[in-house]
Amino acid sequence: MERPPVIHKTAQDLRIAPNLLDYDAECRTFSWDEARKALQGLPGGGLNIGFEAVDRHAAGPGRDQVALRFVSRDKPAQDMSYAELARQTNRFANVLHKLGVGKGDRLYVMAGRIPELYVAVLGALKNGTVVTPMFSAFGPEPIATRINIGEGMVLVTTDALYRRKVKQLRDKMPSLHHVLLVAEDSGVTDEPDTLDLGNLMAEASDSFSTVATSPDDPALLHFTSGTTGTPKGAIHVHGAVVTHHATGRYALDLHPDDRYWCTADPGWVTGTSYGIIAPLLHGVTSLIDREEFDATRWYTLLQQEKISVWYTAPTAIRMLMKSGAELASQHARPDLRFIASVGEPLNPEAVWWGKEVLGLPIHDNWWQTETGGIMIANTPAFDIKPGSMGRPLPGIEACIVEHLEAEGEPARVRVIHEPDVEGELALKSGWPSMFRGYLNNEARYRKCFVDELYLTGDLAKQDADGYYWFVGRADDVIKSAGHLIGPFEVESVLIEHPAVIEAGVIGKPDPVVGEVVKAFVSLRDGYQPDEELRLSIMAHARKRLGAAVAPKEIAFLPSLPRTRSGKIMRRLLKARELGLPEGDTSTLESGA
Ligand code: AMP
Repeated sequence: MERPPVIHKTAQDLRIAPNLLDYDAECRTFSWDEARKALQGLPGGGLNIGFEAVDRHAAGPGRDQVALRFVSRDKPAQDMSYAELARQTNRFANVLHKLGVGKGDRLYVMAGRIPELYVAVLGALKNGTVVTPMFSAFGPEPIATRINIGEGMVLVTTDALYRRKVKQLRDKMPSLHHVLLVAEDSGVTDEPDTLDLGNLMAEASDSFSTVATSPDDPALLHFTSGTTGTPKGAIHVHGAVVTHHATGRYALDLHPDDRYWCTADPGWVTGTSYGIIAPLLHGVTSLIDREEFDATRWYTLLQQEKISVWYTAPTAIRMLMKSGAELASQHARPDLRFIASVGEPLNPEAVWWGKEVLGLPIHDNWWQTETGGIMIANTPAFDIKPGSMGRPLPGIEACIVEHLEAEGEPARVRVIHEPDVEGELALKSGWPSMFRGYLNNEARYRKCFVDELYLTGDLAKQDADGYYWFVGRADDVIKSAGHLIGPFEVESVLIEHPAVIEAGVIGKPDPVVGEVVKAFVSLRDGYQPDEELRLSIMAHARKRLGAAVAPKEIAFLPSLPRTRSGKIMRRLLKARELGLPEGDTSTLESGA
C-alpha cells in the first residue's frame, strides 16, 4: 500500500493540549535558566536529582500519589507513594552515611526491576553518592571491568546475582568495600563479606537531609562502549535534572495525571533518565514491570494499568509486530495517548504499524549516553515523517558537519547547511545534561568536541524542514536490542579461549533486534574448526560476557583481514559478510 510521506496531526490526535504546541516560538524563547525555575533547588542554591524527583513531591500535595507501581507475575502489585519513596530513600541514604559512603563515592546497582534498585539509586543521589547502573544480564567480566574502571566502592545487588556473577571475581575488585545484598532467594543473606540490605534498612532512620550538591557535582556514571579499548565511563552531573525535566515535558509530554510506562531496563541510560528520574520529576505514576517481554502481557498491562504515555524501543515494537495485529486488537487501549521510541532506528513500517494497529503513530526520538537526555524528537504536535528522528528540542541546537582533514593540524569541521547531505550529527555544547568527561580519559573526551560542537559519532542528514534522519554509526560499535556493545570487549574475551588466536566482531543486521553480534575467529595450530569447537567458544563467551553481549554467531576464518599497522578491519569483515563492496582496501595487509 502506498503511504504518504508525512503523518499529519489533527486536533483529534491530541486528546489533551500538548506541552509543546508552537515549536518555533518555544525554540525562540526557551532558555535553560528559565527551565531550571520549574525545579525547587536545595536551600542555599544547590541542585540534587534525588531531591527534585522525590522530596519535592513528598513535601507537597502530591505526597500520596503513587510514584512507582511494581507489577510481576507471581506477586501482588506493589505501590509506593512519593511520601513512602521519600522515607525509603532517606533510609538508604542513612545506610550509606553510616557505612562512611559519602559525596563523590561511587555506588553500582545491578538487579532486575525491583523496588530496592529504585530506592538505592534515588537514596544514593540524595547522599551525593555517584550512581552507576549496570545491566543485570552482564556476565562477570563486564561487571568487574566496569567496577574497576569506576573504582566502585559499593555494590547493591541480589543474593542470586552476587553468587552467579560477582563472587568469583570479588578479590579482583579491590575498591569494592561494601556489597549490599537484597535477599531475593531466601529472605536473608549469609554470604561472607556482604551485608543484608533489608537489615540495614530496618535499622536506619527514615529522615535525612539531602546532601548539598551543586549542579556541577557528579551524579551518575554511565558506561558506554566504544570501538576500541575498555568501556568509557560518561560522567553526568546533578544539573542534568534540568534536561530530564524539560525533555519529560516536551518529548514525553508528561502531564500530572499520566500513567507512564518506560520499558527500558534501569541498567542502561534510558532506564535511568526516563525509567526513574524524568517521570518522578513530573510527579506522575510510573509502571515498572518486573517481567521480560511478552506480547500478550504487554497489551494486558497497557490496558489494565491504563497507561497513557508509553516509552519503548524499536526492538520491542518489532516483536509486537511479529506477534500480529490480531493479538493487538484483543485489547482496548482507551487511555493510551502517546507512544515514543528510542535507541535504534525505527523503521517507517513500525511508525505506520503503530498508527494502523495501535491507533497511534510511534514517535521516534534520538539521544545517547553522552547527551544524558533526549535531544531530537517527534513530539505530539509535530507532523511525523516516518523514518525521521524528528527535530531538535527547544534548547538544543543540532547540525550536520563534515570533517576537514588536514594532516598534522587540529581537527576541524564544516557545518553543512545544504539539506539532505550526509555527515556527522553534532550538537552545540552546553545543555545541562551534557556529559562532563569520560572517567580517567580526558583526551578521549576532548576529541569529542570541535569548535564548541559535540560530535556524536552518528551519521545523519537534515532535510529542508529541519527533520533529522539517522544514517548509521560512524564507528564499529554494535547496537543489539537497543544495547551498545563494544566489539573490542567481545574480542578480548574470545581470544582468551585456548583455541582462538585472533577475533574480529561485527554487528550483523537482524530484522528484529537491529543487529546481532557475529564473531570471526582464526585458530591456533592444532585446532579443528568444527561444531564442537564452535560451541565451546560460544559457551566460553556466554559464561564470561553474559547472554546480552556474547556473540550469537561464530565463523572460522584462516586469518582475519588486518591493516598494515595490525588493526583488524572489522569494516571489511562486515562488507564481506553482507556481500557489499569492500571500499578502500589500500591499508589492507597483503594476502588477507
Ligand atoms: P546509547 O548511548 O547506548 O544510548 O546509544 C546511543 C546510540 O544509539 C546513538 O548514538 C545512535 O547510534 C543509537 N540511537 C539512539 N536513538 C536512535 C534513534 N532514534 N534512531 C537511530 N539510532 C538511535
